[in-house]
Amino acid sequence: MIREHIEQIQENIQKARQAVGRTDDVQLVAVTKTRTVAEIREAIACGMNFLGENRVQEFVSKYEELHEELAEKQVVWNILGHLQTNKVKYLKDKDTLIQSFDREDLADELHKRLSHADVLLQVNVSGEPQKSGVAPEDVERILDYVAQYPDISVRGIMCIAENTESERVLRRQFELARRIFEKIDTFSYGNVTSRYLSMGMSGDYQLAIKEGSNMVRIGTDIFGRRK
Ligand SMILES: *Cc1c(COP(=O)(O)O)cnc(C)c1O
Repeated sequence: MIREHIEQIQENIQKARQAVGRTDDVQLVAVTKTRTVAEIREAIACGMNFLGENRVQEFVSKYEELHEELAEKQVVWNILGHLQTNKVKYLKDKDTLIQSFDREDLADELHKRLSHADVLLQVNVSGEPQKSGVAPEDVERILDYVAQYPDISVRGIMCIAENTESERVLRRQFELARRIFEKIDTFSYGNVTSRYLSMGMSGDYQLAIKEGSNMVRIGTDIFGRRK
């Protein structure tokens, strides 16, 4: 089933790109939170090499179980969930892309504990108070702060749009993220690049791609509903 699901998603990604005449690549991240190591192996066998986990503990135990057999595969583990500062130490010596970077004290801790960190800046584009992420108006402030840490590379923007059926609301939030993504490219910080615009999940990835996403994070549509 996983193989068919991935093929279907790849097809939908192509369609969404073609609909807006895009020729650049869209990176698919297989979101493996709550999935077993056997399911992850299957996804990797289908060519998935960007994996996404939410919880540090769960990531570390899967990483340790799979690390040796994945040595040749160049798998990139993505940390997607809210990252507490006291969990950063467990990421030491593991290559990850931390997509949920969102605050100054986390920058301090990454600098202190890790020799290098690749991160995406999570921006709260929906403005919902329960969501993580910096407010759009605070993006420059946090990038100014991170500029003191050349060992932290900010490689783009991540956002989670509102859980809504309204295409109009979703488009507005994706568009806001894209504008921020384009804007940070004009800044001259040595450690900030606009490589990834990570937006779109099972429910909204085609729309996100039409609005400029070049990285989608998909769990349910690959593996089925989470329990
Ligand atoms: C769980 C999760 C996803 C995947 O969600 P699905 O709806 O299962 O595709 C993507 N991004 C983040 C940040 C998540 O927590």
